[in-house]
Amino acid sequence: MLPLPPSPHAWALFLDFDGTLTEIAASPDAVRIDADLPSLLGQLETWLGGAVAIVSGRPIAQIDTLLAPARLPVAGLHGLERRLPDGRMEQTDTHRTDLDSVKKAMTQLAATDNRLLLEDKQLTVALHYRQAPDKASLCRKTVQSAVLPFPALEVLEGKMVLEARPVDMNKGVAVQALMAVPPFRGRVPVMVGDDVTDEDGFQLVNDLQGITVKVGPGATRAGHRLDGVGDVLIWLKQMRDSLAAGDS
Ligand SMILES: [Mg+2]
Repeated sequence: MLPLPPSPHAWALFLDFDGTLTEIAASPDAVRIDADLPSLLGQLETWLGGAVAIVSGRPIAQIDTLLAPARLPVAGLHGLERRLPDGRMEQTDTHRTDLDSVKKAMTQLAATDNRLLLEDKQLTVALHYRQAPDKASLCRKTVQSAVLPFPALEVLEGKMVLEARPVDMNKGVAVQALMAVPPFRGRVPVMVGDDVTDEDGFQLVNDLQGITVKVGPGATRAGHRLDGVGDVLIWLKQMRDSLAAGDS
């Protein structure tokens, strides 16, 4: 049994999106949102005084569309773009020229197999091979050698996806940026995520004596584990209900 917030002012909640709040789909566009999810997140935001943020590899605009009408603080593109609780937008330097060169190599590879999906997120470029798992090592080799000449960039490997992105940002830095501002500041950070890209966030939150929850199997720095998206949603509902009842 995972802990519940001891008071409405105690926790700051950082939630990954794909694989944590929704099941991972064959392509990013095909994701299906639980009908209750936007209102559940909106209620948690209310009960936690606004200290609920999404920390995702997706652009903020996609998160807003998928979670409408909920409109939460978001660290998008693993933190490269951030919407703070007061609505202000922050963005980290893009290294767009370097990225364009890498994108060219990724585009050429994607053109050889229509199961490969190239996603240009402007501040990063991702190559999805979920529908072509036999191409995993070719994709890895191509993207890694394309990124090699550019020290400002790195390859981030997620579940069936390779992403070329600036090295100076990760989910740990993203969580830290949000923890610096109210209403997050001074609270105990609680981070939930399912993928390797969440581990930087887990490290930061562990360092801050927070609570970290890994969703699904795999090695992790997180202190707790939930089996899947369904269990995350059950825990979030318990959280909401205990805050609403005022008995936590
Ligand atoms: Mg995820």
